Amino acid sequence: MAGFASHFAIDAIPHWDYSLRSPPFGKGADHPHLKLSRALLFDLVSIGVDACAGIALAIWLFATPASAPAIALGAMAAILPDPLQFVHSVCPQEPLITLQRFHERIHSKRKLAWKLGVSSQIAFAAVVSIFASAVR
Ligand SMILES: [Zn+2]
Repeated sequence: MAGFASHFAIDAIPHWDYSLRSPPFGKGADHPHLKLSRALLFDLVSIGVDACAGIALAIWLFATPASAPAIALGAMAAILPDPLQFVHSVCPQEPLITLQRFHERIHSKRKLAWKLGVSSQIAFAAVVSIFASAVR
């Protein structure tokens, strides 16, 4: 639950997001029809690589052999709100409607340029990992 909630706290901080190319993800995301296209495949691969990298990074930074499964589950829960946006776009039903509304409301409206966004995200991850190792 803490992992899932952390997604929204972190989304509230101005950051950089890469753009998605296909209608279910990008502009006009209310589209309930999935159309297989090169853009959709590119987005799915990008999102998959991003998710795997995030989970691997969380395990590398925070896990011990005993805690690795719990860290992996926490990282997956922290990522989950974004794939749920996709599920909402193809199946706009409750509770996804309320979750989507909350997600859009809490997400920072300020988008950082990629250099500032990536460097601030690295700095944020470094501060969190230093804090976590100090607490351990
Ligand atoms: Zn999000």
